[in-house]
Amino acid sequence: MSETVFSKIIRKEIPAKILYEDQWSLAFEDIHPQAPTHLLVIPKKPIGSLAEATQEDKELLGHLQWVVAHVAQLHGLSASGYRVVTNIGSDGGQSVPHLHYHILGGRALDWPPG
Ligand code: AMP
Repeated sequence: MSETVFSKIIRKEIPAKILYEDQWSLAFEDIHPQAPTHLLVIPKKPIGSLAEATQEDKELLGHLQWVVAHVAQLHGLSASGYRVVTNIGSDGGQSVPHLHYHILGGRALDWPPG
């Protein structure tokens, strides 16, 4: 997988507002928030998207979902609710080819998305 801006954030080569970190994952604020709270959760392993995850990534994918819920809880989103999105490829609107989960909250979100 090619180098992305998220690789640089993982290596702390560019700044990010990091909210959670462990040996497998990182959570930080999205630089262009689309909701009052807009966070990203990424694996440190450079997986291009959910579509590129393999069977050996199953445990990591489970851990990332736990991090999503944990970080949302820390931000007080659990009671009012929030949305978790992972965009995949061009039709999915993915712009950074490194697996990431968006956490969007702090306002009622429309459905279906555009
Ligand atoms: P996606 O369009 O689903 O690939 O989402 C990529 C997200 O990364 C977008 O919401 C961007 O605003 C966000 N993003 C890009 N560069 C940075 C950065 N340096 N720090 C934080 N978020 C970023």
